[in-house]
Amino acid sequence: MQRSLTSVLLVTLLFAQSAMAAATKPNLIVILTDDQGYGDVGFNGSEDIRTPNMDRLAREGVRFTDGYVTYPVCGPSRAGLLTGRYQDRFGFGRNPSVNPDDVTAGLPNSERNIAEILKPAGYRTGVIGKWHMGTHPSFHPNKRGFDYFYGFLSGGHRYFPEELVLNDVAESRSAFDWYRTRIMQNQQRVDIDEYLTDEFSNEAVAFIEREKDEPFFLYLAYNAPHGPLQATDTYLDRYPDIEDDDRRTYAAMVSAVDDGIGRILEALERLGIDENTLIFFLSDNGGAQGKGSSNKPLRGFKSMPFEGGVRVPFAARWKGTLPNGVDFTQPVSSLDILATINARVQSPIDADKPLDGVDLLPYLTGKKKGSPHEVLFWKNYDNNWYAIRNGDDKYIHNYNGNFQFFNLKKDLSEKNNLVKRKRIAVKKNIGMISEWDEHNVAPIFPPLSSWSGNP
Ligand code: CA
Repeated sequence: MQRSLTSVLLVTLLFAQSAMAAATKPNLIVILTDDQGYGDVGFNGSEDIRTPNMDRLAREGVRFTDGYVTYPVCGPSRAGLLTGRYQDRFGFGRNPSVNPDDVTAGLPNSERNIAEILKPAGYRTGVIGKWHMGTHPSFHPNKRGFDYFYGFLSGGHRYFPEELVLNDVAESRSAFDWYRTRIMQNQQRVDIDEYLTDEFSNEAVAFIEREKDEPFFLYLAYNAPHGPLQATDTYLDRYPDIEDDDRRTYAAMVSAVDDGIGRILEALERLGIDENTLIFFLSDNGGAQGKGSSNKPLRGFKSMPFEGGVRVPFAARWKGTLPNGVDFTQPVSSLDILATINARVQSPIDADKPLDGVDLLPYLTGKKKGSPHEVLFWKNYDNNWYAIRNGDDKYIHNYNGNFQFFNLKKDLSEKNNLVKRKRIAVKKNIGMISEWDEHNVAPIFPPLSSWSGNP
């Protein structure tokens, strides 16, 4: 009798503690894939790639049908996600050079990223995978708010352990040699013995197990399925029926990520923290042309302003807090991740650097109606094009000299250019773009193509 009463009290106490933690500081896991196409996930209708664990996230949470990133290639998109601010506000409007001697080529120290915002609020912070926010030592994740780093600094990597032989980015002799650097664990180089995606999944589970008693933030930035297209037989063997070699390897790479997500969900459940953990899953940009990916039914690919470049697989799960199995069909942005977590945590935000993201929780729980964003913007500085999503309308300004206006509700695949019939709306959208662009800053660092190693 006594024992059972104690158990009841203990259980009650645990529930109270867990409820309190949930009300204040949920764990946050952001799972970012690289160049995964809109149509390359089961929850968006993929017919050949099987993603049961990505689908589980959506089924047990919210699927965003209109989830966007802030740029159609890796670096700027990640800078937007990590700061919760449009990257053009601080000059990150292109992929940076990976020259490790360049003190400008990374996320500027004048900006605070999500780890630097959550850490003072008591969070343990980790980044596993691709950093891409600068290779100069001053940009190292450990100097940018992350307690733990396991991954690589540049914008991509090879996947097989035996290919990772360089001790530093500075040893690169030609472009993309940096895809062969040994993996970094904090400041140390380490050797790996597994396929890189599996290695990152192992590390993610270990991080969660280590940090389970503290509020934690894990930024799990898989470089899969970004090229080079490389997969092991374990995953390739799942797709004997895909005839196209690139598509088959790409499918295998997505499968490896999916397995990792399954292991993470299993760990959260086993540790009893799945109800206190908010998970966002998304890709950093659309699938790349000719690399085995599919953005169906959207038009275009990575690097383009069409939906296929910027609209991505996107889902969130927070068991017991978010509804489950629901589609949210208003536009949302990767910018919203930081705003949503920080609305729970209330860590101070610099007054002169307000977030562009919106707290999504009241919209997702039905407390607020309507759209979180009046408009969303995109800008490509080097090619001088802009795009805006305004309600159901999308206007693309000066892409390859073309001006295009689409109604996405009637024309999801952006086939029917209405620019000549919508002169008033076009003018209004140009005005909104100009106003938004007024305080934007030109890129503060040289482009990726400016440095090809130290020959
Ligand atoms: Ca990417």
